[in-house]
Amino acid sequence: ETVLTQESASEDPKRDAALRPKHLREVIGQQAAVQRLSIAVNASKKLREPLAHILFDGPPGLGKTTFATVLPTELGVSIQMTSGPALSKPADLLPFLTNLEEGSILFIDEIHRMPRVVEEFIYPAMEDFRIDIVLGDGMNARTISMNLKRFTLIGATTRSGMLSSPMRDRFRIHEHLDFYTVPELATIVRVNAQKLGTQISDEAALELAQRSRGTPRIANNRLYWVRHFAASESDGIITLPIARAALEMAEVDRDGLDKQDRRYLETLLGVFGGGPAGVEAIAATMNLPADTLSDEIEPYLLREQFIVRSPRGRIATPRGFTAMGHTPRDLSSP
Ligand code: ADP
Repeated sequence: ETVLTQESASEDPKRDAALRPKHLREVIGQQAAVQRLSIAVNASKKLREPLAHILFDGPPGLGKTTFATVLPTELGVSIQMTSGPALSKPADLLPFLTNLEEGSILFIDEIHRMPRVVEEFIYPAMEDFRIDIVLGDGMNARTISMNLKRFTLIGATTRSGMLSSPMRDRFRIHEHLDFYTVPELATIVRVNAQKLGTQISDEAALELAQRSRGTPRIANNRLYWVRHFAASESDGIITLPIARAALEMAEVDRDGLDKQDRRYLETLLGVFGGGPAGVEAIAATMNLPADTLSDEIEPYLLREQFIVRSPRGRIATPRGFTAMGHTPRDLSSP
């Protein structure tokens, strides 16, 4: 396992599954969402109705899949998992829809990447628990309707803005997940260190939390790395000096920015003089899709005010300049 993989917020299914909370009460932070979802779960049990369809949106690694997998445990139902890109045609959905059990959950990750034909196929399933299948074609084509078990669709997306509005409107519950506070991330680090059987000091947990980009998945990745570092270079206990040395070695900076963040800021500062620069232009220079910038990189940089949005494009703030070792622009000069 390399240091490079510690950097990204993208998924590592095995690690994610090992550290994922199993019950709603174990979910740390996002308390407003937890409360609303507990009510939905209780109501569903008491009324013997399936849970309302739920849409989770927010940047990668903030707990969308975690919520989706906790809910079936709370309800005592099964879950099937797929993703938008895996569903290229309506027929790809059939095995999932025919395997549904009463009240069970179908989770579609990256639901904004589902093609329009599949979206339209799923509407009657969401509304009336029914699908319309077209048999034959041309003159002989006929549509048969098939009833489904009553189920709950949970969608996850990094951008709810890219979801068509008919699709968005069919979800009765919308939960937007935002970045975590440092104390919340420190709690996640401590709980997960315990799950891994590793001792960690409170100061060390706080240090990891501060350098995890507001993102639980990144905090987990940092924890795995620091734990290995402690085992290899010391007695396995994660103290503050050990945590600092390990993070130094992994080139995690004080602000917790990762390589992509730094490349973004370097491009904005070095190529565009700090901006304003359009997201398309920055993306083209970085050789990355503009979506990756606006869904994964920019939300954190905006929240932490390393950059701001303006009508003419992105602009680096004084904080953005200093984080990269540049002298902030003198905004008073002409
Ligand atoms: P997403 O689906 O939004 O990309 P995940 O749900 O896969 O993110 O979260 C990644 C990991 O972060 C999980 O495996 C879990 O260990 C941790 N995590 C995320 N949210 C929470 C939370 N609220 N409380 C505790 N751990 C969390």
